[in-house]
Amino acid sequence: MYDIVIVGAGPAGATLARLIGEKYKVLLIDKRDPENKNPKNHTNKCCGGLLAPDAQKMIAKLGLGIPKDILVNPQLFAVRTIDLTNKLERLYQRFYYNMDREKFDKWMVSIIPASVDKKFNSFFKNFAQIPCGYEIRYVYNGEERSAKTRVIVGADGALSRLRKSISKGINIPEQYIAIQEWFACPYIIPYFTAIFDEEISDFYSWIIPKEKYLLLGSALSPRDNTWEKYNRLKTKLTELGFNFENKVRREGAHICRPKKLSQFYPGRDCIALVGEAAGAISPSSAEGISYALRSSLYLAESLEEGIDGFLDRYKQKVKDIKLNLLIKNLKSPAMYNPFLRNLAMKSGLQSIK
Ligand SMILES: Cc1cc2nc3c(=O)[nH]c(=O)nc-3n(C[C@H](O)[C@H](O)[C@H](O)COP(=O)(O)OP(=O)(O)OC[C@H]3O[C@@H](n4cnc5c(N)ncnc54)[C@H](O)[C@@H]3O)c2cc1C
Repeated sequence: MYDIVIVGAGPAGATLARLIGEKYKVLLIDKRDPENKNPKNHTNKCCGGLLAPDAQKMIAKLGLGIPKDILVNPQLFAVRTIDLTNKLERLYQRFYYNMDREKFDKWMVSIIPASVDKKFNSFFKNFAQIPCGYEIRYVYNGEERSAKTRVIVGADGALSRLRKSISKGINIPEQYIAIQEWFACPYIIPYFTAIFDEEISDFYSWIIPKEKYLLLGSALSPRDNTWEKYNRLKTKLTELGFNFENKVRREGAHICRPKKLSQFYPGRDCIALVGEAAGAISPSSAEGISYALRSSLYLAESLEEGIDGFLDRYKQKVKDIKLNLLIKNLKSPAMYNPFLRNLAMKSGLQSIK
């Protein structure tokens, strides 16, 4: 019998396990195979791997410092904004740590206390209510297993099974499909590029330099000719001078975009959600690491006084995440309305000449 089962060992689940692992009997399960033996269970999360200022602040708040071997060249202090709809370009000052996302996730897991039971290669299937809590079922190395627990935490990302089952599919944030390809690049581009083009997506696309590679990614509406749109984006950027000839890798993932506050869902009964499973991710930039860390910290704080009433305490604490999502949504038209974006970019306000 566990006190708490956490499903998902991404930044949200790993942080929570680290913070509560000595107080509670915790089982942490993740479908990933850390040894890379199972091709279906990739070890790496498809991600831009940029640590934005909000995430840096959360790392500081958690009393952590990033080991330097997690960082990759170059560190980025500018975003080149390309507006293909309005045919405009600007360079803005920004502060990102550029990192290897797989190493970051592994580091977060490595600092979880040894008292936490960690099971990788474990795919969470479902749960049932029992008199003293819940019984969860998962598949470990192809074998069906179960565990009993008082609390379940869903930290299982954008496509959370737990969220789907407890919210019955209601108020799930809008889902985008991210396609990201890695290309060999012999030179370093000293900025992160954000591309806006309503013909491709009503969200955005990006180019990120990573050591000797260039990542081209795009957040696209599902079921809307995603591949055709991605290839059209590539053609347009090639015309601007980018070179996408030497592809080395392709990856994909879902991204949540919580456009309404009701799409943020902290959980019910003794089941809590953290990180992207809860719908905690910026709807304007898709920055999700700070939200994953923050929601886990709030849940850990809510569990400090014990399990009784923890979800009500958590719901109180996450009010500031909701406020933040509201502000990000109010800010979105300046980025995603072509007319307002045209005005903002044309003004040159805050851009680097
Ligand atoms: C293409 C792309 C680029 C991005 N770039 C950035 C960026 O540069 N900076 C940034 O801050 N954010 C970025 N994000 C968002 C960020 O990656 C996520 O918001 C963040 O990882 C959320 O953390 P999490 O712990 O909630 O979920 P995740 O990191 O998604 O972790 C979920 C974990 O749950 C596990 N899991 C899922 N289902 C099951 C199951 N059924 N059984 C067992 N385990 C399961 C997964 O294996 C995974 O380890 C990007 C997202 C995408 C898709």
